[in-house]
Amino acid sequence: MEAIVLYPSPAIGHLIALVELGKLVLTLKPSLSIHIIMTTAPYNAGDTSAYIASVSATTPSITFHHLPPISLPPELLTASVHHEALMFEVLRINKPIVAETLRSISQNHTVHAFIMDFFCASIINVFSSDQQLKTIPTYVFITSGIGFLASFLYFPTLHETIQKSFKDLNNALLDIPGLPQIPSFDMPKPLLDRTDNAYKYFLESTTYYPKSDGIIVNSFESLEPRAVKAILDGLCVPDAPTPPLYCIGPLITAKGKKGTEFESLKWLDAQPRESVVFLCFGSLGLFSREQLKDIAVGLERSGQRFLWVVRNPPPKKDQSVVIWDSPDPDLDSLLPQGFLDRTKGRGLVVKNWVPQVELLNHGSVGGFVTHCGWNSVLESICAGVPMVAWPIYAEQRFNKVVLVEEIKIALPMNESEDGFVRASEVEKRVIELMTSSESSDSVRKRALSMKDEARAALSDGGSSRVALTKLSELWKRG
Ligand code: UDP
Repeated sequence: MEAIVLYPSPAIGHLIALVELGKLVLTLKPSLSIHIIMTTAPYNAGDTSAYIASVSATTPSITFHHLPPISLPPELLTASVHHEALMFEVLRINKPIVAETLRSISQNHTVHAFIMDFFCASIINVFSSDQQLKTIPTYVFITSGIGFLASFLYFPTLHETIQKSFKDLNNALLDIPGLPQIPSFDMPKPLLDRTDNAYKYFLESTTYYPKSDGIIVNSFESLEPRAVKAILDGLCVPDAPTPPLYCIGPLITAKGKKGTEFESLKWLDAQPRESVVFLCFGSLGLFSREQLKDIAVGLERSGQRFLWVVRNPPPKKDQSVVIWDSPDPDLDSLLPQGFLDRTKGRGLVVKNWVPQVELLNHGSVGGFVTHCGWNSVLESICAGVPMVAWPIYAEQRFNKVVLVEEIKIALPMNESEDGFVRASEVEKRVIELMTSSESSDSVRKRALSMKDEARAALSDGGSSRVALTKLSELWKRG
């Protein structure tokens, strides 16, 4: 039996992207069996159960291997650590168990490829010292953009050439091949401080990317052509060969979480075409109570129709992601008094979760205020919806720079020095996005043209289709 094995990191967005890759491979190679090795995080990494159940029910060639839960040291769970650091710890502890699982899959399968999420790359080290596993070709899967890959391939070089933490560079502009200059504060959050464990983990794992047999990216070449060229020209890995690059995206899916929320779709049905601004901040994004109030005031003053997904603020002040399951928010106490009544009819606030892909593709949605998670970005592009970029965590500030300055498909949501976005900025940007102006007409036009480009990349003979075919041709009995 021939197989490929996928190893996602424990986060719902990463799992979905990798599983969608597996499904796509099956359309070209239906005889393959696909094995997905799932770690279990002892914190909230997004509820994947409904998604997994639906994949298992519809695609029998995909098998999920759930690894036993592990526990993390209590000091990690109580201190305010990045969720990336937690994730790396889960991955580190699981290394021998993943190797064991791969060994057991290889007992009765010819494994043509082990495709790992980019967080997991340092497992290459374990495989390369194992007689049985070292012959299995390894691929790194990037669930973010090609520009992001360029920056990660170049990260060890930045580390060597710059002596200070990015956070201590006074927001100096960084030169990374294939990208606009990136203000140092906008580098992915866990990379800001050299003493941070997450920084060390990333430094270690990025050094393994060039040692893989190929890098697969969930993006398409015409979205980020400069970054593609810089990578192919070898500029991002100055001291070693760059592995082959396969841009196979956009991969998106309509299924996210259990229980479909229908109210928002019904509400959109009653709104005029392209009249609604949709605000949604990923699977993990959280705002403080004060920030939620200012968003509400900004939306109310904008006079625009809106659909806004609201979560409870974090229990700790500096936390910006959901780490523990949080109960439904009490909207009356969180939002300004009378807000829900005053905006009734032209605004809808939904608690916690909506079917984002369906909403973005609903004709009534005309703009998207997003946290710039890469799946959300691709989903917006595929729907041809222009964005306002409001990053919160992970590599989202970096994505904002790329979306606003390079791809020119989003307007920026500007924050004040303390990171707070005032109601007046929300009001201004929402009006700018939803009404005709030079800037919004331009991002709207770009959004529609990138929608066409995305479709072309995925069609027969398109760049993403060709890349995927090339890749899957490698996966056959030699
Ligand atoms: N999502 C959704 N409904 C929500 C929030 C998020 O369906 O209310 C989905 C969204 O469509 C996307 C994923 O969750 O597919 C979030 O992935 P992304 O990469 O944008 O951000 P992350 O959650 O990884 O930060």
